[in-house]
Amino acid sequence: MDYETLRERMVAEQLAGRDITDEKVLDVFKKIPRHLFVPAAFEKNAYADYPLPIGEEQTISQPYIVALMTQLLRLTGKEKVLEIGTGSGYQTAALAELAREVYSIERFEDLAVNAKNILAKLGYTNIKIKTGDGTLGWAEQAPFDRIIVTAAAGAIPKTLLEQLKDPGLLVIPLGETFSQVLTVAHKSNNKIDLERICGCVFVPLVGKHA
Ligand code: SAM
Repeated sequence: MDYETLRERMVAEQLAGRDITDEKVLDVFKKIPRHLFVPAAFEKNAYADYPLPIGEEQTISQPYIVALMTQLLRLTGKEKVLEIGTGSGYQTAALAELAREVYSIERFEDLAVNAKNILAKLGYTNIKIKTGDGTLGWAEQAPFDRIIVTAAAGAIPKTLLEQLKDPGLLVIPLGETFSQVLTVAHKSNNKIDLERICGCVFVPLVGKHA
């Protein structure tokens, strides 16, 4: 398989062909080898326009949604980012390319270990991953300039809003089990404003403050 060609086509058709306009984001998705983040049985589908199973009944999200969430975070290279739901580690890699440092929490140990191994193999040194309940946040490392939650919640966990810097941005899918709205929470002057972006479907956020 010529993964480089598939990756370029994915970026042109699924990302730039929709509303991913940030050149830095597009460049990052041209670079990250998505096929290394999926189980071998799905490698040939890695650049297709849909999510794929990664074990533990969890998924690596559709490339477009990963790119959109990345773009919505408006990263400049200086940020300390918290990610809830490491999954395969693919989104983590995109964040690590565009931010200063990334802290990522995954509730399944085997997924966290797998992601850690791939990201280390690819040479990322600005990522810390731990297994645990991400709805509790990562108090020792707070506050964060940006927080991204890659699983669906009914409401934004209060702990995460507390661990977000002011000003800061948090991206999260909010809603019911099979229908959510990708939402950006803008924190400014101790106030939270919600911006609704588009409909989406994510696996549920499971945890104490979910
Ligand atoms: N962005 C990931 C990727 O690129 O592969 C996909 C993430 S997947 C849609 C959502 C992940 O959130 C799953 O791996 C799931 O186990 C994890 N998750 C759900 N609730 C969690 C919690 N409370 N803390 C940490 N991880 C959680």
